Amino acid sequence: MDQKQLATEVNKRRTFAIISHPDAGKTTITEQLLLFGGVVREAGTVKARKTGNFAKSDWMEIEKKRGISVTSSVMQFDYAGKRINILDTPGHEDFSEDTYRTLMAVDSAVMVIDSAKGIEPQTKKLFQICKMRGIPIFTFINKLDRDGREPLDLVNELEEVLGIDAYPMNWPIGMGKGLAGLYDIYNNRIELHTDEPSFIKLDENGEPVEKTTELEDSVFEDAIMEVQLMKEAGNQFDADKIATGDLTPVFFGSALTNFGVKTFLDAYLEFAPKPSEHKDEAGEEIEPVSDQFSGFVFKIQANMNPNHRDRIAFLRICSGEFDRGMDVTLNRTGKALRLSNSTQFMADTRETVETAVAGDIVGLYDTGNFQIGDTIYSGKHGLQFEKLPQFTPELFMRVSAKNVMKQKSFHKGIQQLVQEGAVQLYTAYSTGDYILGAVGQLQFEVFQFRMQNEYNSEVVMEPMGKKTARWIDPEQLDEKMSSSRNILVRDRFEQPLFLFENQFAERWFQDKYPDIKLTAKL
Ligand code: GDP
Repeated sequence: MDQKQLATEVNKRRTFAIISHPDAGKTTITEQLLLFGGVVREAGTVKARKTGNFAKSDWMEIEKKRGISVTSSVMQFDYAGKRINILDTPGHEDFSEDTYRTLMAVDSAVMVIDSAKGIEPQTKKLFQICKMRGIPIFTFINKLDRDGREPLDLVNELEEVLGIDAYPMNWPIGMGKGLAGLYDIYNNRIELHTDEPSFIKLDENGEPVEKTTELEDSVFEDAIMEVQLMKEAGNQFDADKIATGDLTPVFFGSALTNFGVKTFLDAYLEFAPKPSEHKDEAGEEIEPVSDQFSGFVFKIQANMNPNHRDRIAFLRICSGEFDRGMDVTLNRTGKALRLSNSTQFMADTRETVETAVAGDIVGLYDTGNFQIGDTIYSGKHGLQFEKLPQFTPELFMRVSAKNVMKQKSFHKGIQQLVQEGAVQLYTAYSTGDYILGAVGQLQFEVFQFRMQNEYNSEVVMEPMGKKTARWIDPEQLDEKMSSSRNILVRDRFEQPLFLFENQFAERWFQDKYPDIKLTAKL
């Protein structure tokens, strides 16, 4: 397509991550959004994926047992002239590194909050990541059909705990069994809580244009009064502040009863940004509408379908147009590649993708070429996008194959899972032992489970507990510096680091070697 067509296509894209503390309703709302997109699917399929009835990939068993979402998947649908890409994220904090990388690949985020719980620890952490990226955040306060906390209390907490301005786009009229509707401030109307969507128009003063019987209920009067107060004393609506992530529009609703979700989606699409520029390594902004195709790998996932033993690299397209079969360069190796085997993610099904543009996510079937953070591009002009941040692991495990005769599958499994970014791998200088590093304990459990199920390799894990990982300049390294209170290891890029028993051990080391610079990753 020419540049004009490309611009039109790119401007239609809206790519966002959906984030929440587990159980706030992320899956339920995603399902509703897909239904609006007319994606033909049985109700309950996203849910079913979670409970294991749908995609019966073995390792999702662990999701079933734990009731958590481990994978982060991509769903695409068309709605109101836009092409929407939703990136699901694992809610559990042990997988926050995965979520972090996903947030690097989107232009905005939707945060789902349980109205009975408010801001939970995981919401706070994820939110801080969004803020660091400066992307717009849209808040959906869910489960209005149940008795929750006072709306004003929830909005105040959002502002206080997250340190952001909030602007209620709508306001609950009643709650739980008494939920009567939403005062839709943004659209100046009342949305009634009825089976079929039904609205009452408001005049410029926010008063109903006609008196209906519903409005005699005192909950309406209370809500109208609260909204009037807020209009006078609260934050002003400011689209610029939304765009910079300094103000979050807040929507109330109930995903389960599909109330307020469409109102949310419509407003979201009005203010959600189109694909933005992405910075290269030197800080230069790469424009999405460009002759040059480029993108980066933010996630690798193996064995999504155990029948196919496939491995997929998820690519965020940052500029230009992707065409199946095109030739690109992988910047890390300088190697030329042909992208003939690619997929896009229409809801639950995967289809071969022929073309895609900046803002889209495509899956590339991978035979071991890609690593997380890799940049690929077309043409001659070399390009590397800025590094994806890596969390410093805090928990460590010594790992070995239970059956020494099965070293081959053990090594293959470890290499692949490490490349996926499931865990970090270190090798001890003195013994050659394999040591795994993770941010959360569940990462080890998933690792162990997948080694067994996908590589038929039973592993022995020996917990080493918490350690402080600090990298050292290889030039400055003398192996004699290692003592009983630290372990000298190399990471998978052959960079040396110490795993200190604790902070005292680190301090002791620094006192002894004041000229040595030790660094943490994030
Ligand atoms: P996730 O872990 O954030 O993906 O949460 P889910 O979408 O799986 O929802 C967790 C639980 O809350 C499920 O039992 C849902 O049926 C329930 N749930 C989700 N949305 C609502 C809602 O609007 N109202 C009520 N009452 N329950 C909800």
